[in-house]
Amino acid sequence: MKASAAVHAGAAALALAPGLWPWAAGAVLANQAVLTAAGLWPRSALLGPNITRLPPASAARGEIAITLDDGPDPEVTPAVLDQLEAAGAKATFFCIAARAAAHPALVREIVRRGHSVQNHSHVHRHHFALLGPRGFAAEIGRAQAVLADLTGRMPHCFRAPAGLRNPLLDPVLHRLNLQLVSWTRRGFDTRDPDPARVLQRLTKHLSAGDILLLHDGHARQGASGGPVILEVLPRLLLRLHEHGLSPVSLDSALPRRHATPPPGGNGNAHEDGSEGRTRGPAPRTGRMAHR
Ligand SMILES: [Zn+2]
Repeated sequence: MKASAAVHAGAAALALAPGLWPWAAGAVLANQAVLTAAGLWPRSALLGPNITRLPPASAARGEIAITLDDGPDPEVTPAVLDQLEAAGAKATFFCIAARAAAHPALVREIVRRGHSVQNHSHVHRHHFALLGPRGFAAEIGRAQAVLADLTGRMPHCFRAPAGLRNPLLDPVLHRLNLQLVSWTRRGFDTRDPDPARVLQRLTKHLSAGDILLLHDGHARQGASGGPVILEVLPRLLLRLHEHGLSPVSLDSALPRRHATPPPGGNGNAHEDGSEGRTRGPAPRTGRMAHR
């Protein structure tokens, strides 16, 4: 972002010199194109920290993360929970908070079985990446409050709807003590009805530390009539077992970005007492996050 600011400042200076302004305008447009492209590429780290693999210590233990987005779903999620339990696997559910609020018992069951519930926004807006800082804070902060209320734990991971984001997202996540988690590979299980192809995408170059993306919400029907994920997941769990990989939740694999601030705190507390990264003035979102 510093380079981006420099381009804009340089362009402003150049714009004062007659004859140079077309070059300056071109530089600004090119810079905007890079930022936009970075936001459309979910695994990019250009717009701030973005976790696409488990930490080395976790990978060294042979761990892998299965993440399930867009639930909970009253039809699919209970079956997913049973399949995970049969394999002794733990997973992470990136829940849409409004759906979670509609199925509170299901959310508590996810937690009761030892899985992790994390933040996938409140209503999963399709234009999420276009929301400004206020929109991000409202969508994400509201989801934090709802999910913490249902599970008794404040989520520490956020995944953007459709993986899309923009440069204004990272400061909001920082204030809410959330880390952005993307994935190593995804199965495209909401689009592809073929379980074999979905499994192939997830397990190509499979290795310890991978973060895999599937969906228990918005599940697509497979050729046999059932949700594709329910055909893929048992095969995936078997494959992981054959490779000696242990599916763990992000609660156990990822250290939290910061210590959880005490209730009524300002949301900026740090484990080591430092002030962390330098940031501009922060709107007060602590109330929303810790209600
Ligand atoms: Zn999603």
